[in-house]
Amino acid sequence: MRRLSKQLGGPELWVKRDDQTGLATGGNKSRKLEYQLGDALAQGADHLITLGGPQSNHCRQTAAAAARLGLGCTLVLGGPPLTTSLGNLLLDDLLGAEIVFAGNRDRDVVAHEVMKSKLTAGKKPYLIPLGASTAVGSIGYVKAMKELLDQCAEHEIGFDTILLASSSAGTQAGLVLGATMHGFGGRILGISIDAERNDLESRIIGLARDAGQLIGAAKPISRTSVEVNADYLGGGYAVVGQLERQAIRTVARAEGLLLDPVYTGRAMGALIDLIGKGAIGSEERVLFWHTGGVAALSAFSAPLSTPET
Ligand SMILES: *Cc1c(COP(=O)(O)O)cnc(C)c1O
Repeated sequence: MRRLSKQLGGPELWVKRDDQTGLATGGNKSRKLEYQLGDALAQGADHLITLGGPQSNHCRQTAAAAARLGLGCTLVLGGPPLTTSLGNLLLDDLLGAEIVFAGNRDRDVVAHEVMKSKLTAGKKPYLIPLGASTAVGSIGYVKAMKELLDQCAEHEIGFDTILLASSSAGTQAGLVLGATMHGFGGRILGISIDAERNDLESRIIGLARDAGQLIGAAKPISRTSVEVNADYLGGGYAVVGQLERQAIRTVARAEGLLLDPVYTGRAMGALIDLIGKGAIGSEERVLFWHTGGVAALSAFSAPLSTPET
């Protein structure tokens, strides 16, 4: 991102385009689903059930994957039924998913009820936990780290820091495990979207260790390799503030690159702020891992287009 690097007067910034992973506008869940759905198929599943927020990128990618594999799909979305379908919600419908709104009930409880009703109907349902952040799903990001290191070797570049948006822990867990296994010595900094630092760091360590056991990783995961910054929680999950709005506009206008309102907009806002404070030095080379989510933009048109005050 040459123009953005110059504009910020800071480190050399690069981007890894996981907003281009292929499943109906892409995103990081496609890499996790590649492994999670391998498990679903191995178990003979014919119907996928998963859950998330009304603008869940994970749910939209699951709906797309179900279509590609010829499986049924039910999405349990938090909150009251919405009458207008924008962003990911529109795509969920186009992709043929059944949508169940959980209202003010616990989404996990509702998802288990859907499981039961599908079983009763003679189906073989498979429940994918939030964000496909399981030990199996995280393996997609172990492989992604290997892919990055191969690309770095091919182009003879290296990164001091990888920065990403982190929420249900699977992406960062896979990257940390991949870094340990394949020898990435730099810093992997997760910008927390919706959790306190200790809580998210413990979940990442737990998942990375479970995934490591699953694939027989030789080296243990050290606590110090897991780093989360939770200083940018703003108004809460999916609340677009000045930080996100500014970051999205800055990157769009400098690079012609779209970020999403919930995750990458916030992570980029954090990166810009950390560069401004000198917490990320101008001699560093930084990789921004774009985890997708651009399909949600239109659902946030009000906070994103509010004129400057
Ligand atoms: C889910 C998601 C994340 C967070 O990834 P986790 O593996 O849940 O930590 C980041 N960015 C986007 C766009 C997402 O949809």
